[in-house]
Formats: sequence, C-alpha cells, structure tokens
Amino acid sequence: MNASPLAAEPHTAPQPRTEDGRTLLVKVFGKDRPGITTGLFATLAGYGLEVVDIEQVVTRGRITLCALVTAPDSPGAEGGLRAVVHRWAEEQKLQAEILSGIGDNRPRREGRSHVTVLGHPLTASAVAALTSRITESGGNIDRVFRLAKYPVTAVELAVSGVATERLRAELALEAATQRVDVAVVAAGLERRAKRLVVMDVDSTLIQDEVIELFAAHAGCEAEVAEVTAAAMRGELDFAESLHARVALLAGLDASVTEKVRAEVRFTPGARTLIRTLQRLGFQVAVVSGGFTQVTDHLVEQLGLDFAAANTLEVVDGKFTGRVVGEIVDRAGKARWLTRFAEQAKVPLEQTVAIGDGANDLDMLNAAGLGVAFNAKPVVRQAADTAVNVPFLDTVLYLLGITREEVEAADVLDGPADGEGPAAG
Ligand SMILES: [Mg+2]
Repeated sequence: MNASPLAAEPHTAPQPRTEDGRTLLVKVFGKDRPGITTGLFATLAGYGLEVVDIEQVVTRGRITLCALVTAPDSPGAEGGLRAVVHRWAEEQKLQAEILSGIGDNRPRREGRSHVTVLGHPLTASAVAALTSRITESGGNIDRVFRLAKYPVTAVELAVSGVATERLRAELALEAATQRVDVAVVAAGLERRAKRLVVMDVDSTLIQDEVIELFAAHAGCEAEVAEVTAAAMRGELDFAESLHARVALLAGLDASVTEKVRAEVRFTPGARTLIRTLQRLGFQVAVVSGGFTQVTDHLVEQLGLDFAAANTLEVVDGKFTGRVVGEIVDRAGKARWLTRFAEQAKVPLEQTVAIGDGANDLDMLNAAGLGVAFNAKPVVRQAADTAVNVPFLDTVLYLLGITREEVEAADVLDGPADGEGPAAG
C-alpha cells in the first residue's frame, strides 16, 4: 500500500449524473464580440442544466463555442430550450447547432503525447502529411492550438491512442520530408516538471566556435576550423582533435581572452530562452568542449547555475598549447549532465539537453529530452527532437510554453537586456 496520505484520499463528490444520461452538445459559431458566452449560458440557465464541458476558441475574430450540457428531463422542455437557443443565436447573427447524445466526451485513449510542430513557414501540405501519419499509426488528434506565430509558426497537437516512441519515429521521417521540425513528448506531469536545461555552447548558445576565435588571434584560424568541422561531423575523436587544435595556440598571449569574450555572438533567442527558463524556476547549465576562459564569463553574464568546460593552460601570461584537468569530451558532457542533475536534485528524466555536435550525442541521449539544435545530420538523426530554425527560444515551444506567455513575462519584468524577441 502507498503510505502517502494523499493516495488514500477518497472521492467524496457524487458521481455526475451524465455518465449514461442524455446530453446536448450546443455549438455556436460566428463573429466574436463581448457577451456571447454569457448570452448562451444565460439562455441555458433557465432550464436547470448541468455543464459537462465547455470549449471555446477565437480564430481571426470568429468564435467557436461548444457547450456540452445535460438534457432537460421532459421532451417539452428540450423543445423549448432548442427554440430559445436558436432564437437567441438568430438575434446575435450566430449559427447554432444542437446535437443530442449520451454522456460525456469519450475518455482519451492510452498512449498520450504532445506533438509540437515548428514551421518557417508551416504549409498546409506539411500539416496534411503529419496528421495523416498520426491517423495511419492509430493515433487520434484530440486538440490543436497555436503556441506561437513568431519567429516561427508553432502548433501543438494533443494525440492519444499510439505509443509516444512509435509516434516519434513515424513523425521524424515525415518531418524531414516536409522540412518542418516536430517534437513528440509523452504527456504527463513530467513535462511540466522539467527543471534543468543543459546547453552546449559553441554553435548552440553562441554562433561561434570559441577555439576559432582564439585561433584567429594566433593566425591559424583556417587550420583549426578544418579540424573542428571534421570533429563535429564525428569523423575525428574529439579529445584528439582538441589537443591538436589547442597545440596550435601555444605561445599566444593569454590577454586575448578579453577580446575573444567581446567577440562572442549569442544565437538569436538565446537570452530570451534563458531568461524565460529562469523565470519559470528552471536551472540552466552550460557544458562545453570549449574553454572556461569564455564559459566563466557566460555564467556571470547570464546568471547560469552550472558550467563545465576545458581550461587552457597559461604559464607566464601565455597559452602553453595544453589543457589542464579533466577533458570535457563526448563522454565528459554526458557525465557533467548527470553531475549537474544530482547537484540540482533533478532526476535525469526531467532534464533537457541542447546541442549541435557529435560530441553532444551522449548528453542528448542521457537527458529526458535531447534537442538537436541546427545540428549536423549524424546528431539530428540520433536525437529525440531536432530544431532546424536558427532561433534558440523555439526550444520553449517544445516545452509547451507559448510566445504569449514569454512576452507577458517580459512585460511584467521590464524590457529584456539587449535582445529583442529572438533577435540578437
Ligand atoms: Mg557545439
């Protein structure tokens, strides 16, 4: 037996009398204006009905209002109700429909997922292809709503009746064909409880590869860039490539660190993402195959909770061409994710990892949700979810946070520090 006192709490409320009783679905459609919802329910109020469900949505100024209510006991009363609802709707220049039936909505089936679709643009043919895949795999679309119209069009579909893993595999194939991003996550409380986000730095949080910024000052940028690209494609062992690239910095004056810090360019939406996560109580970490010389500065600038990176060795004010301490490579990144989760007291299932390179793969797989951000193909194929638009704040939509909520929080807390919405 579960010892929790909450688990034993009895349901004291009486069972609703809608279980197998007759119900009426009242649907109203037309031009939206204040007072329609009140008007409909005031009209229904005279019949002593119980409200079973209400759904309302306004799309480009048109309201669709559905009320599911218990049916009146006598056929005479029901006839009267139908007449007054239609009369009211006519006066309001609305279309009304009343359908008789039995009981409540069918309960949602097992296998419940949230499917987020990001399009830039989102085309009708992409929606047709994705929804047809959902149907073919046995899933049902229970609800759809828009999360954002800017900087991408994002919609969320609540799907039931198909296992999350299966749905994810089906939709990943279609997403690639349709050139849209699709994220499939299991429904449930875990989704609301994600409490640690761990981000890669180079080409994820920032647009640059930090070692290339250092290399530019050492005059060996092209040489370093070549090795970096091969390592990120997964063609080279990361630790080996790191040592080879760092060796090229030997003798460079360590004072260039200040210049490099100033040269770093955030990915559009990076500050919005972090600011919003922090407001929501998430802890945020970075883990980088780059260098503490830069990540320490990011921690300060962004108020991050944790960071791990390699440290360039400095002797007599010059880089030696070596790194000191434990190497943060592909396995190291996953190890740091686990450590940060322990320190943050967050189970691994409630972590989100974001990265673009082959050295992020272990971390993306270890996290509860792994997001490949504008990633190399090898990473995109292995991750739970891929985002291929260049705006980091779109990750918020994968967590079910709407653009409206992000902007409302910005209004409450005052203007953002140096970054418009997803623009710098
Ligand atoms: Mg990277």
